Amino acid sequence: AAKSCGRGNFQFFSAAMNAATHERLLLENRLWQALEQDEFELYLQAQIDLRSGSVIGAEALLRWHHPELGMVGPDRFIPIAEESGLILPLGDWALQRAVLLLDRWRALGLGHLRLAVNLSARQCHGTGLLPLLDRLLRETGIDPALLELEITETAAMQDPERSRELLQQLRARGIKVAIDDFGTGYSSLSYLKLFELDRIKIDRGFVKDIETDPDDAAIVSATIGLAHALGLEVIAEGVETQAQADFLRGKRCDEAQGYLFARPVTVAEFEVLASTAETV
Ligand code: C2E
Ligand code: MG
Ligand code: MG
Ligand code: MG
Repeated sequence: AAKSCGRGNFQFFSAAMNAATHERLLLENRLWQALEQDEFELYLQAQIDLRSGSVIGAEALLRWHHPELGMVGPDRFIPIAEESGLILPLGDWALQRAVLLLDRWRALGLGHLRLAVNLSARQCHGTGLLPLLDRLLRETGIDPALLELEITETAAMQDPERSRELLQQLRARGIKVAIDDFGTGYSSLSYLKLFELDRIKIDRGFVKDIETDPDDAAIVSATIGLAHALGLEVIAEGVETQAQADFLRGKRCDEAQGYLFARPVTVAEFEVLASTAETV
């Protein structure tokens, strides 16, 4: 298409090639090198038991220290990594780091902490995940129940039968499974019956206006009730205010995660937080 454009069109395109496009090129160019050069880091965001207020674990969230752009969040590079296939080695790297952390925590007296890791659609539908997990579990001897894998309903529903099998295999190993961003995909509730799950993560989009929007309040409240009726635990994402936390606690939501309690921080910062803090 670029070739058929006249000179004027090309100039128009150049002018319109905005910061976002430029950034995408910068990210794409370096993405593969980045893993080799150790530019990725796992940040950890605390997860809180709403009844006791204590830190019960964390979610691992990828960060990229790009040499020119500085710290880059996953929303900017995960989609590119998905397209290019880098998500497979990157996802393996994140899982390995996470399992090694659980192993380290056992030695540090933090052996009660759970660690959740996000899975991409490609990881779920490829063949490498279970052998990798088996090797990591064997090599470290960590309690598999301390590892939780988060899968979005969108990713799971790309191939429901395969996802069903994967989740079954994960749970047969004692690994926990959570549905991430619950309520944001175009899937039906029937998959709650199809999939073996441990936890539902209510998307922060529903939590944001919980105090002012009766629809959001109703959706969150009903989701908690539905999850509990199915024997699942519930964690709410994106909790930013005390009023939101109070609402969720009142509805018997089990756990919460959000800026009210802690932002995603480095491993060292999280370890301090988890050793000292009784939050809320
Ligand atoms: P997610 O799994 O739903 O993670 C939660 C996101 O919400 C994180 O964004 C977190 O920083 C943000 N968040 C937490 N609490 C609050 C809050 O109170 N307010 C607001 N506004 N935001 C909050 P982050 O770290 O930018 O990650 C974005 C997404 O990138 C994640 O969404 C996940 O889908 C993906 N991601 C992150 N790490 C990985 C990974 O290792 N593998 C894969 N496949 N995806 C990842
Ligand atoms: Mg997640
Ligand atoms: Mg989420
Ligand atoms: Mg999200």
